[in-house]
Amino acid sequence: MVKELILYNSLTGRKERFAPLDPKHVRMYVCGPTLYSNPHLGNARSTVIYDLLYRVLKEIYPKVTYARNITDIDDKINDAAKEKQISIQELTQEVREEFNSDMHELCNLKPDIEPSALENIDDIIDLIHLLIARKHAYIAAGHVYFSVKSFKDYGKLSGRDIEEMLQGVRIEVAEAKQESEDFVLWKPAKETDDDSAKFHSPWGIGRPGWHIECSLMSTKFLGKDFDLHGGGADLKFPHHENEIAQSCAAYPDSKYAKYWVHNGFLTVHGEKMSKSLGNFITVKELLQQGVKGRCLRLILLMTHYRKPLDYNFKVLEESRAIIARYDRILNEAKDIDVANWPLPEEFFDLLLNDLNIAEAMAYLYELSKEIYSFHQEDKIKDFKRIAEFLGFGNNGSAETPLNILAMAKEIQNARAIKDYKKADEIRARIINLGYEINYTKSGEIEVIKK
Ligand code: AMP
Ligand code: ZN
Repeated sequence: MVKELILYNSLTGRKERFAPLDPKHVRMYVCGPTLYSNPHLGNARSTVIYDLLYRVLKEIYPKVTYARNITDIDDKINDAAKEKQISIQELTQEVREEFNSDMHELCNLKPDIEPSALENIDDIIDLIHLLIARKHAYIAAGHVYFSVKSFKDYGKLSGRDIEEMLQGVRIEVAEAKQESEDFVLWKPAKETDDDSAKFHSPWGIGRPGWHIECSLMSTKFLGKDFDLHGGGADLKFPHHENEIAQSCAAYPDSKYAKYWVHNGFLTVHGEKMSKSLGNFITVKELLQQGVKGRCLRLILLMTHYRKPLDYNFKVLEESRAIIARYDRILNEAKDIDVANWPLPEEFFDLLLNDLNIAEAMAYLYELSKEIYSFHQEDKIKDFKRIAEFLGFGNNGSAETPLNILAMAKEIQNARAIKDYKKADEIRARIINLGYEINYTKSGEIEVIKK
């Protein structure tokens, strides 16, 4: 029987049967990190949840393309680069490496496509052009704004009424906007901005707005209509609402994403973990304190994805104990091959019901208790198969991440042309990411986890 996924669609506010536009090729887009500093545990929750969804979709459909963008043009990036006195390219490259290494430690699969704003700036400018040509955007004082009144469906995702929104506004309309809710597609550079953060456009030197970056990257890489769009609940309004407005205004025959998924917040004492509130802990800090990435992954998967998850010491200790218990089973099962062992249906059915990960995890825990009592080989195989499916089957012996291998290759190339300064710089970055390298006599480079 064909497996059917039921998913809560934020666009309709209902649980729906997931029916992809093309069942032979499912396409999903998720808003990724803004690369101005290392990800905190809240950001990690979002990446782990969409990694789970990706794994579930891959289990059902023959081909899934998962695109997660990189926001590498943003005011916060400009400020952080200025503080460090480096270019935004250098800063975002550094943070991107750290991000990739954290994601690897959390046992996330790599998305199929990771497009970045910097790599797509010309196409972003073209899309803004199109919106101006279609009279959905206007130029004012070096800015380009999207006119929300020009798009009749504005508010359909977040359930807001644009007329009410505009009537309710008593404050002076800022800058040169026609309406308070109009949002920026292009803004002029500040004089103090570093040259690396200034881009040429027909409207002057500046940079694109954040919302248009996602509209361009999702439609460019997945098509004007695609299946699923995800991100944290904080992005529903205005970011996702604005993405829909821009994309559907630019391509009137398209509906943009068919399903919208929003993950709940990771909280601390009930408050959203965020950089601005200062109540955050980075994944890197936790790893440096000796917490295993798999242990963090377990924490992030134990609560239903739409519910808040409060992070505290007790949760961490519980997760440590469970991982230790699971590792004992996985150690015993290390010579058992489960590549062709089916994923237990009873377990997968729980995930098919709007990713009921809380119950799916309870199923795994019960299985571990049964194994302790009866020690049946079939149950051990079930356990290992599920653990591998969920991403913590690998008993700590993670392979070297691809980004580290790519950096090792860069060192080799730099040494080949005797650019030892560059080789040393890259080596320092590798060390910073928790790896060491050895130069072998034959000129090869070995990467070792510290
Ligand atoms: P940012 O790097 O701030 O653009 O965020 C990257 C992703 O993490 C977005 O999808 C956010 O919605 C998500 N996110 C940020 N903070 C939290 C949090 N405390 N809990 C869950 N998701 C979050
Ligand atoms: Zn986005």
